[in-house]
Amino acid sequence: MRVSLNLRPMMAACALGAVLTTGVSYGQARSDTNALLQQAAAALEGQRFGDALDAFTRASKLVPGDPSVCVGAGIAATKLGRNDEAETWFARALTLAPGFTAASEWLGELQYHEGRLKEAIATFESALKLAPKAGVLERRLADWRKETQLQDRFYESRGAHFVVLFEGPADESLARRVVELLEQAYWRIGGVLTAYPPKPIQVVLYTSEQFRDITRMPAWTAAAYDGRIRVPIKGALADLEQLDRVLAHEFVHAVVAMLGGRNVPVWMNEGLAVTLEPGAKDDVDEVLARARTRPGLQGLHGSFSRLSAEEASVAYAVSAHAVKRMIDLRGPYAAVALLQDLARGAEFASAFQQRVAMRYEDFQAMIARD
Ligand SMILES: [Zn+2]
Repeated sequence: MRVSLNLRPMMAACALGAVLTTGVSYGQARSDTNALLQQAAAALEGQRFGDALDAFTRASKLVPGDPSVCVGAGIAATKLGRNDEAETWFARALTLAPGFTAASEWLGELQYHEGRLKEAIATFESALKLAPKAGVLERRLADWRKETQLQDRFYESRGAHFVVLFEGPADESLARRVVELLEQAYWRIGGVLTAYPPKPIQVVLYTSEQFRDITRMPAWTAAAYDGRIRVPIKGALADLEQLDRVLAHEFVHAVVAMLGGRNVPVWMNEGLAVTLEPGAKDDVDEVLARARTRPGLQGLHGSFSRLSAEEASVAYAVSAHAVKRMIDLRGPYAAVALLQDLARGAEFASAFQQRVAMRYEDFQAMIARD
């Protein structure tokens, strides 16, 4: 499971702003700049984030004083998973226009997704001083303050690659167990995908109620990854096998985010996570055998969070089946290479065809027939 940023309203605002605020002088230079900005905005709308970043970067050299151009570049870099670069662009936009709410919103969300909760809060607080009526920021800020208050009283258990936060001494042995399971998953999954996250990953253990409150995920969600792994721990020690699966699943999302950025189709992300859970295959086959209808892969590119529990279980099974097919055809390295292509800004269908040596349309038809 993952949470995506609310791209739509901001994308439109940014694209429009980029075109409207450009103050280039006369003639050819202005029409070149406008053409470039339109190209950049169209690439952003079309989710061709590599092209968008390239066009915004070139445009920023022509109109270095335009904060919208910086935000456009920052959004594209965010989507490509290039967080440091994105942060530099948003910071530059805010230097040019300190009251530019969209820049603050993207910067704050980026900091939040990196687990830098206090910095995210500070970013939104400064933005609200300059734009006190920004309701979206206010609501988000209220959530983050609640989260930070809760987290401030949490204890910490550390492993080499994970920091586990938990509420009270009663959960300490569970937290240690979580660290152990995750360290094992780190080497096992890292080995399959030949990728090992270099920075420690934060893991927060919640009660079921805290989990729903903080993540606002549907009731069928077992855990979440949104830059941190969040796990509701009710009865977790009683079912260590299930806990192991949940942790491995969420850790795969962390690796996918590192390799592929944020523009990975949800079916591929969830499919990898399910496939790399210990002992997942039987469940997948069982769900597929039972399902009366199956969604096509094209319908599984976006979030599953609006699906019912039943629809979600089929969506996960179809995703896992598709990823398994892909790996059977070309090996796990093809999946990894495809993720890396996406992080470089490649369009999914063409990157897929190159890495899997099959047209994406044909693959979808094959999965539908299976
Ligand atoms: Zn998941």
